[in-house]
This record gives sequence, C-alpha cells and structure tokens, in this order.
Amino acid sequence: MRTVKLPGGEEVPILGLGTWMMGEVEPQFELEVAAVCYAMERGIQLIDTAEMYANGGAEKVVGTAIKRSSSVKREDIFIISKVLPSNAHFQGVIQSCDHSIDRLGVTFIDLYLLHWPGLVPLQETLDAFEVLRSSGKIRYFGVSNFDVRNMVKWLKCKGGGASVANQILYNLSRRGVEWDVIPLCNDYSFPVIAYSPLEQGRLHGSLVLSQLAEKHGTTSLQIALAWVLSQKNVITIPKAVNLQHIDQNIGALKITLDAEDNRLLDLSFPPPSGPSPLEML
Ligand code: NAP
Repeated sequence: MRTVKLPGGEEVPILGLGTWMMGEVEPQFELEVAAVCYAMERGIQLIDTAEMYANGGAEKVVGTAIKRSSSVKREDIFIISKVLPSNAHFQGVIQSCDHSIDRLGVTFIDLYLLHWPGLVPLQETLDAFEVLRSSGKIRYFGVSNFDVRNMVKWLKCKGGGASVANQILYNLSRRGVEWDVIPLCNDYSFPVIAYSPLEQGRLHGSLVLSQLAEKHGTTSLQIALAWVLSQKNVITIPKAVNLQHIDQNIGALKITLDAEDNRLLDLSFPPPSGPSPLEML
C-alpha cells in the first residue's frame, strides 16, 4: 500500500475505508462488521468514522470489527473519528472523544477531526484537542470541511499549526478545492483526506469513465477512484459494505492512468479556473 507522510513524518496509507451510513439499521449490523473485518484482512489499515454516523452506530461497527478480527491488531489500524461542531466546546470535545473511544472499544483514536466549522470559537476546540493529545486519548488532530478562510483562522489559533489533515469533498466532479484548499494544505504539508471519492456512486454512468474502464479492463468507479489515488498527498476513504466493492477499491491501487487518460478526464471534469465556495455533502 502506498503511503503519504503526516507533517511529523508518520506514514499513513492512501486508501482507507469510510463508514458513513453504517450502523444505521440493526439487521445490517453483522453484514457491516463482516465488511470492515474483510477490508482489514485484505490490507485496509485506515478507517474513517464519526460520532455523527448513526449517532455512534458506525463507531460500534468499527469497534466490533476490530475486536472480532483475529488477524488484525488494533495498533495496525489508523482510526479517524470526528466531533460534531455542536459538541465542539471544551467539555463537549472531551466528552465526545471519551464516548467515541468507548464505542470503538479502544484506548485512543489516531486522528480526531472537527467535522465542520460551527459556532464555537476555534481556539476552544483546539485547546480541548491539545488536552486530548497530551493525555494520549488522540494521537493527532485536524479539521474537516474547512475552506481557506477557516483554515487560515484555525492555523492562526494557538496550537492550530500542530494539525495534520483537512478532510474534504474531493473527486473528479468536485475539483474546486484544487484552486485553493489543496494548495494551502500542501503549504503546511498536511495530507488532504478526500471523502466521497466515488461521489456516492453517482460518477457511474459517465461516458469517459466507461471508455477508460473498457481500456483498463476495470469498472468506471475504479477509474474514478484510481484518479483520486493518483493525486499527490491525498488519502481517500471510499465506503463499501459489498465485498466485491471492497476488492474493486483495493484493485484500483493497481490502475495507472497515463497522460492521455488524464487529458480525457480533464476534458470531461475540468480543473477549476478560479475560486469557488467549498462544497460539502
Ligand atoms: P463514496 O465512498 O463516494 O461512495 C459510497 C457508495 O459507493 C456506497 O453506496 C458503496 O456501496 C458504493 N461503492 C463503493 N465502492 C464501490 C465500487 N467499487 N463500485 C460501485 N459502488 C461502490 O461516498 P461516502 O460514503 O459519502 O464517502 C466515503 C466516506 O467519507 C464516508 O463513508 C465517510 O467515512 C467520509 N465522509 C466524510 C464527510 C465529512 O463531512 N467529513 C462527508 C461524507 C463522507 P456499498 O456500501 O453497497 O458497497
């Protein structure tokens, strides 16, 4: 598995597993746990979740899978979770993190993010992140859905420079962040964590993706994922419960898009020619 470096030098895999929509429905629980176990056994070592997903239900799926998986040790998995902006005041962050740790059945979270900017002063959230980090409950912290204006505000706060990532919506049909957010992340050497890399499946049906899929002997969504995986300093976290999808997503790591493929993709999904508001899902 290829890796990217966090600002401190730790290497993190570029492909992980998302969990939004997991843990929502009781009858699906076992299937979802099995999918997370399968992904980990197939070499996925980074899992993205959040207190928001199914009100903690997705964290329970992840925790159950880690506990149940015989061949995977907790230390081998890089766990990302997120605090809701409504819980982002000092005590709220501490409490939310404790609850997430309990649901995950672990003693620490690897990377803890503010899910999106809200009304709580950023310094208060950062102060809580720093307390969590010094007590060993989280190893790193960062942000999600932060545009340049919010990133600048965050980075100006005391301790903001210790952040390691910004998780944002980024895929072929959502390239606006290439104009300003990604260059700013690069200036601080933080990886971008690209969420919804398949645009939740909506990229299926694109003509150019179908043509490239035929050329490479893959599916069109594998081409879409291979494109995200080929971007520098980007980690991505497609969500999949279907085991065939998990295999396909791992298979996308082996697809190499050439200059002509990228030219065709740029024609159908042009890079930005100016700034635009940050998109979110
Ligand atoms: P996504 O990963 O773009 O798409 C997931 C959907 O695509 C699921 O329906 C999945 O189906 C399907 N799929 C997965 N692999 C496939 C494949 N190879 N071929 C065909 N279909 C495939 O969308 P997402 O879940 O919105 O984003 C990924 C993760 O990013 C989330 O789960 C979450 O962890 C994170 N996220 C973060 C934020 C944020 O605000 N920070 C927002 C959105 C998402 P099956 O499940 O049936 O396999």
